[in-house]
Amino acid sequence: MADTKTQAVTESANERVAVNGDLEFVEELLSSGAAELKFCYQCSTCTVVCPITPDESPFPRKEMVYAQFGLKEKLVSSLDSWLCIHCNDCSTHCPRGAKPADVMNVIRSMSVVHFARPAFLATAAQSPSRVWMLFLIPAIIIAAVILGLPDGSALGFLSGTVVFSRMMPVAAIDVVFLPAVAFAVVTALLSILGFLRSLRVEYPRTGGGESLSTAIMGTVLDVLSHRKFLECTTNKSRAGAHALVMYGFIGLVITTTAVGILYYMNRFGMDTEVSPYGFFHPVKVLGNVSGTLVFLGCAAMLARRMASGKSGKATVFDWTFLWVFFLTVITGFASQVFRVFDLAVPAYGIYYVHLVLVFFLLAYVPYTKMGHILFRAVAMVYARWSGRAIVRPVIRDGLPPKRDVQAEPQPQ
Ligand code: SF4
Ligand code: SF4
Repeated sequence: MADTKTQAVTESANERVAVNGDLEFVEELLSSGAAELKFCYQCSTCTVVCPITPDESPFPRKEMVYAQFGLKEKLVSSLDSWLCIHCNDCSTHCPRGAKPADVMNVIRSMSVVHFARPAFLATAAQSPSRVWMLFLIPAIIIAAVILGLPDGSALGFLSGTVVFSRMMPVAAIDVVFLPAVAFAVVTALLSILGFLRSLRVEYPRTGGGESLSTAIMGTVLDVLSHRKFLECTTNKSRAGAHALVMYGFIGLVITTTAVGILYYMNRFGMDTEVSPYGFFHPVKVLGNVSGTLVFLGCAAMLARRMASGKSGKATVFDWTFLWVFFLTVITGFASQVFRVFDLAVPAYGIYYVHLVLVFFLLAYVPYTKMGHILFRAVAMVYARWSGRAIVRPVIRDGLPPKRDVQAEPQPQ
């Protein structure tokens, strides 16, 4: 390992500190979306402007130091990178264009890979050249199940009225998706337990922490109210788009659960209606309203990311999740429309794509940005419980003016 390590020695009046850094890790950071990291000259403006950093050991300047030295272990186990909400205030005020918000974002995606079990799935999910493999797996499984069914082998479902359960009966959905969900639950637990173990070592509980129940309640209220997003200045409008996606997602989870419960109640002899529901059935209304919220939120986020640098730089981690979620909703709506007009080929074709995308979202939760729901929630609860979440008042006067670093030549 000697050739991949660098050793920096700093001296003060009475002490000498040796730092072992991982040069390969620094290269990985630079090539993963944090290329401007090298411009940082440690002025600490970013930490001063951050609206949510705690008093003790504030961020993100210290993460910039760790990143420049290649202190991988400190960064991938970082609690603070998950407290950061990528508001971009720090990058807006950074006098060197070092983009600390993007560095924090890259650290989060590396943290996901570090704790993922098996790690190669997380690596594939974040690799532009390999992410297609994760789509190929459900594409093959679902096609094999459809073609293995009596009506599927000869594509017999294409004739007659469009009914999706003729192509993919509920029993076949269960065979494909229940193991996928079980896999996601087990692997997510392994990831989160690893993360928690590391937090217990790096951030021991102090006397000022909340009880676990108070910490959980406080986190739930913070998430539902988007309170921390509203403390941003650069990227304040992102709060609305994020809230649309979050509430839409919650609505879709409730819809899917309701569809499953009604189906099995019917199977066990109760007089409940089963899918496909009428347009004004409460489950249908909830599903369509929730899908519309996700559609609008994803569209707003994608538009912002493509149109301006205000949202910060997006990685494969960000783009894949946003596009998959967006396309899942679009294919869900489109397959409904083609079913209503009884157009078999586009209806079944789009429904097949929809199933592949849903599988991707569910099965790979710990490896994609979907996992940020888990990591961030755990980090927020842990920060409150451990006493890490004490935030000082923000001092914004006397700061350097905001700069449009996108439009300026980069420092050398
Ligand atoms: S404001 Fe920019 S240059 Fe100053 S410490 Fe933060 S990242 Fe480095
Ligand atoms: S992106 Fe926002 S929350 Fe994250 S470190 Fe920068 S100022 Fe703080």
